[in-house]
Amino acid sequence: MLGAMQDWDLRVTRLIDHAAREHAAREIVTHWADGSETRTNWAEVRRDALKMTQALRKLGVTKGDRIATLAMNHSRHLVTWYGAVGVGGVLHTINPRLFDDQLEYIANHAEDQVLLYDAAFQPLVDRMKVKWTTIKRYICFDNGEFEDWIGAEDGETEWASGDERDPCMLCYTSGTTGNPKGVLYQHRSTMLHAITGLQPAIFDMDATTVMLPVVPMFHAASWGLPWSGAAAGIKFVFSAVNDPAVLCDLMNREKVTHSAGVPTVWLATFQHMDATGTTLPTLRHAIIGGSAAPRFMLERLMQSGVNVAHAWGMTETSPIGTTGAKTFDWADKDFAGQVDIKQMQGRVPFGVELRCVDLDDPAKVLLRDGQTSGALQVRGPWVIKRYFKADADATDAEQWFDTGDVAILHPDGTLQLTDRTKDVIKSGGEWISSVELENAAMSHPAVAEAAAIGIYHPKWDERPILVVVKKAGAEVSGDEIKAHLAQSVAKWWLPDAVEFVDQIPHGGTGKVSKKDLREQFREYTLTD
Ligand code: ADP
Repeated sequence: MLGAMQDWDLRVTRLIDHAAREHAAREIVTHWADGSETRTNWAEVRRDALKMTQALRKLGVTKGDRIATLAMNHSRHLVTWYGAVGVGGVLHTINPRLFDDQLEYIANHAEDQVLLYDAAFQPLVDRMKVKWTTIKRYICFDNGEFEDWIGAEDGETEWASGDERDPCMLCYTSGTTGNPKGVLYQHRSTMLHAITGLQPAIFDMDATTVMLPVVPMFHAASWGLPWSGAAAGIKFVFSAVNDPAVLCDLMNREKVTHSAGVPTVWLATFQHMDATGTTLPTLRHAIIGGSAAPRFMLERLMQSGVNVAHAWGMTETSPIGTTGAKTFDWADKDFAGQVDIKQMQGRVPFGVELRCVDLDDPAKVLLRDGQTSGALQVRGPWVIKRYFKADADATDAEQWFDTGDVAILHPDGTLQLTDRTKDVIKSGGEWISSVELENAAMSHPAVAEAAAIGIYHPKWDERPILVVVKKAGAEVSGDEIKAHLAQSVAKWWLPDAVEFVDQIPHGGTGKVSKKDLREQFREYTLTD
């Protein structure tokens, strides 16, 4: 016997239908690269996406075809998200900050048919065109080209229909070794993820929300915000430029209540605020993820009354995995205790399951004892089964995805990331958490950024060194930093050396690239 309820395929076009019907006039504001600003709304975004669907059909795009974008955050990009899925296609957001060989591999591997791009990336497109073998049509978002292209249509059409398990979006992870790998999201997984994102502990969104997402639409689906935002009918404020002065000005003019970005974005914002005396009085919810949020960042936001969602996730988890949700005894904790909770990576929402297995023996599942660190695995309906074009294999049935992260799980389910399996430092057979060293170093007032890496050591196999960028105008010695670290980490964790540099290398998603840093220090030697 089957249940007797209405069938409603969970297709993401329903999100934009809902937003256009229930929140038609809620605005979508864009600050463009040339400094101009435009305003549209959910009803217009839907109409433009329908027009785009018609225009794509004329190009011969059919179900399952990949439609790529190379673009910053703006309203035309949002239209394209819904237009691409509306024609039954797969939206492929390419990260323009990747290297040429990665860009070549990704577009060819995805077999992209159409590419929509910002004028700012024209040189990149000109350079790569000869290498991209499947793209049949290039459309620039700027100079009137996109508007003219969809402007020739009337929007009188229907979305493509299909199954909720059809693919809708493709994102590649940059990957630290080998070629980038594609994650192919489904309508169903994306919809479940979008609804989950609305929770107070995650994005905390409703119709009063004014969201400025700094996390790019090309990075891990902008954490799903373009989908969740439609479900909640929020006002979006997009900026095609990531200058903190522009962002702060926009936040104040548009009365932004919510913003989302990686820690480096928040850091740049704070620096601008300190230099100019700017405040962000309307901000009430800050989402930080992608790498660990340093303690002082959480303290500063929480002290000014902002609720912080410190989230862990990855492209392979759509990306929501956990957030720093309040624990039942939240109200009994003092401020420092509340920051302690937020500093860890938090707990899962319904729909995500975590476990840690032994780093040397993956068959051994570890206890959630708040002490033992292991390889973190994850499963759930918006977690990857296998990479795009990878063959099905025996591990599919297990449905536990290996995250590549090293973590401790606490008895109440709280996740505490201690490292990535590739970055962990093993000294005399014992693990040292590079993340904890970095967090401790970043709490020193003279430190702008810090990264710990393992260096070969004749006696201990590996010992940590700490690479530090000083804050502009600040002075500090290696010994002073070590003394500061000694207050919060075990003595044998203290780095053998502190090296000062002008900058630490960052990868395509703005995170510290340990691989490049290790390369930079390849010849570095430590003696007994
Ligand atoms: P990439 O591997 O290209 O950086 P992702 O953006 O998918 O791609 O990165 C996912 C990884 O980022 C996670 O596996 C984890 O190592 C790290 N990460 C994400 N959120 C956090 C967080 N809150 N704290 C620490 N690390 C995080």
